[in-house]
Amino acid sequence: MAEPLQAVKGMNDLLPPESARWEWFEDIVRRLLARYGYRNLRTPIVEPTALFVRGLGEVTDIVEKEMYSFEDSMNGDKLTLRPEATAGIVRAIVEHNALYNGPLRVWTMGPMFRHERPQKGRYRQFHQLDVEALGHAGPDVDAELILMLRALWRELGLVEGRDLTLEINSLGQPEERRAHRAALIAHLEAHSGLLDDDARRRLHSNPLRILDTKNPALQPVVEAAPKLMDFLGEASLKHFDAVRAVLDAAGLACRINPRLVRGMDYYNLTVFEWVTPHLGSQATVCGGGRYDQLIEQLGGKPAPGVGFGLGIERLMLLLEAVGAAVPACAPDAYAIVPDAAALPQVMPVLEALRAAGVAVLMHAAGKEGQGSMKSQFKKADASGARWALVFGADEMSQGGVGVKLLRTDGQPGQQIVKPLAQASTWAAELLRP
Ligand code: ATP
Ligand code: MG
Repeated sequence: MAEPLQAVKGMNDLLPPESARWEWFEDIVRRLLARYGYRNLRTPIVEPTALFVRGLGEVTDIVEKEMYSFEDSMNGDKLTLRPEATAGIVRAIVEHNALYNGPLRVWTMGPMFRHERPQKGRYRQFHQLDVEALGHAGPDVDAELILMLRALWRELGLVEGRDLTLEINSLGQPEERRAHRAALIAHLEAHSGLLDDDARRRLHSNPLRILDTKNPALQPVVEAAPKLMDFLGEASLKHFDAVRAVLDAAGLACRINPRLVRGMDYYNLTVFEWVTPHLGSQATVCGGGRYDQLIEQLGGKPAPGVGFGLGIERLMLLLEAVGAAVPACAPDAYAIVPDAAALPQVMPVLEALRAAGVAVLMHAAGKEGQGSMKSQFKKADASGARWALVFGADEMSQGGVGVKLLRTDGQPGQQIVKPLAQASTWAAELLRP
């Protein structure tokens, strides 16, 4: 036998029944986004490496060590598997001049790639729902995005405050960050003996990221560091207050986390994360914020933007952790066909039922043919179907099909005969109430 191959480390297959949970989530998300006026947009998985270097910032974790980059063997182009979605969306918006007619609310969903150490909730290929509002400068859209996420949690049966809590911060504007940065460097230099290698390396390149360190030994220095909030001007504070006022009025509690800085350099003003206590150190299910300079930085006409990325694997793990059931995906009916010779007559009936919206699983022959009636009924039961459609010789000779209720808690279901010729007239009776 040939040696079986395995998936690339950190990249997962998704099989039934688990895939039902994903589809259920995707359905809910699509309908929810439409209610908020978001429209679907799709970009390539491969982008020029320069897009992420310019978009995300050279000294970010992603660009420094997590990108899957390679050269196109045909022409030497430097390419990267997208590690996140915002940069690609902004590139597409700029390339197609898509803001010409005004602001745009868009979303996309799909795989992202980061070369990280695989563990529960952290993979090398993972999936994100990414939502972006482009061309809106006001705090209203920031708040709307956050409220939309709360609505999503509710629809998924997650309890905010228990399963997910909101943390927010303001990163102010570039000039405010520069003033804070100078003060921060001075503070960190004064305690340079206490810093680890990573922090020392970032001291001048990206000191803000030091505040995001996971090293407990650095916590005292980080706690005592100058707070960006104290460097924010009136306009930035007003924006932040306006977001919080809406959340407050909507009864959504949040924790202001002055150390929330996020992993990309492009953020300004509002940043937020939804975190869960159920997933250990992979606690952030969703993160986002405003990026008012990114579009210009990527060559577009200056326009503001705000959005978020939601990690779908982490959300699925969270649903599992709270004991949410995998949605059932049983067919409505199972077609029992004792004699394969009847199939040319049977299959058009099944087609008519499916066209009328009935999910019908056809018993398909094995190596030994159709199998006994008994084994076909066993399979019908195991499929979870509510009805068995019995295409037996007796029934069919009368121009009919036997319809039998399978799930009767031990009570044998009565069989009634329905006409083969007009399946669409009785199809609705097979649908779940
Ligand atoms: P973390 O701090 O956990 O590494 P991040 O700040 O790098 O997260 P973002 O770039 O903000 O994450 O991505 C948005 C979301 O995508 C995260 O909140 C998380 O749910 C998910 N995510 C990020 N990286 C991974 C990964 N390697 N595997 C699975 N999900 C991920
Ligand atoms: Mg990360």
